[in-house]
Amino acid sequence: MLVDSYNREVDYLRVSVTQRCNFRCQYCMPEKPFEWTPKEQLLSYEEMFKFIKVSIDNGVKKIRITGGEPLVRDDLDKFIKMIYDYKSDIDLALTTNGFLLKAQVKKLKNAGLKRINISLDSLEKETFWYLTKKDALETVLSGIEAALSEGLFVKINTVMMKDINEHEIISLYEYAKQRGIQIRFIEYMENENATSYLKTLPSKYVLEEISKKHLIDEIEKKESSAAKLYKDESGFVFGIIEPYDDSFCKSCNRIRLSAEGDLIPCLYFEDSLNIKSAIKSDERLEEVLKTVVKNKPEKNKWSYNTNNNIDTTSEVSSRAFYFTGG
Ligand code: SAM
Ligand code: SF4
Repeated sequence: MLVDSYNREVDYLRVSVTQRCNFRCQYCMPEKPFEWTPKEQLLSYEEMFKFIKVSIDNGVKKIRITGGEPLVRDDLDKFIKMIYDYKSDIDLALTTNGFLLKAQVKKLKNAGLKRINISLDSLEKETFWYLTKKDALETVLSGIEAALSEGLFVKINTVMMKDINEHEIISLYEYAKQRGIQIRFIEYMENENATSYLKTLPSKYVLEEISKKHLIDEIEKKESSAAKLYKDESGFVFGIIEPYDDSFCKSCNRIRLSAEGDLIPCLYFEDSLNIKSAIKSDERLEEVLKTVVKNKPEKNKWSYNTNNNIDTTSEVSSRAFYFTGG
């Protein structure tokens, strides 16, 4: 079992397979980074798998493939199958923008993928384009339908930004509810790579808006879940992810491996250890894993002020989401 210095059990590994992406989300990668890491410098699937095996042997129970956009890397299904064949009861999940999903979902499912989180921040063609710089709303929606038809467990991730998609809280909520999909409203996390005009919409506003239409109750939070879960009068469950709230870090159970081999203890900070030099020895990989778990900081620096609004005076993270995988 992996336990950090604050007594949190770490059993969740997020693996970013690429930092490349076919979208330019304004909160993540508004411009293409100056240079992509050359492909030869990325970990191969075999190298990632070596580390994954060591992680599983040390207690990791959940693996999420992410990016950049993971579906732009070739043969992702083969990578998923490698993990599934090693431990078929691992909770094996993917986060994607959904653009390439329809064509790939069947083989991903057949390879052993169990769950998919699909990012969807708007149901309006114009707003979707404004946020992603891709005219792709219909394609993403058809990716969501394809994942549902395959019988995969689907969630929607929606990043909430003041004045940009705050008027869509109810339409996104109803869209998810009609399909029985859990939607999770995520507070936009400020970072130096994002477009500067974006402002976080604190989760209390999301809850207020939904409360105008529905009777909602908080469900007891699963200790390791990043989301606080609520249900409405019909039993429909939705989530709120509040990185600005202290409880977000109290239950943190994850570490992140980048496509370049950096093992990252926290989404906010720049700290990491690279696994490349340890790749030939399971013992050395285990040492790096345990050191990074031990180095997990107590909490990030995103915070609310005393009025429960976003504290805009706090330091802005320089970590790129397309690098850490979110
Ligand atoms: N490309 C995939 C996607 O967009 O779903 C996977 C990678 S993306 C970095 C993972 C998740 O991080 C997505 O749900 C995305 O919306 C979220 N994300 C990216 N930047 C964010 C930010 N600044 N604040 C909050 N969530 C963010
Ligand atoms: Fe690409 Fe995902 Fe970042 Fe959007 S959030 S730019 S889809 S990696």
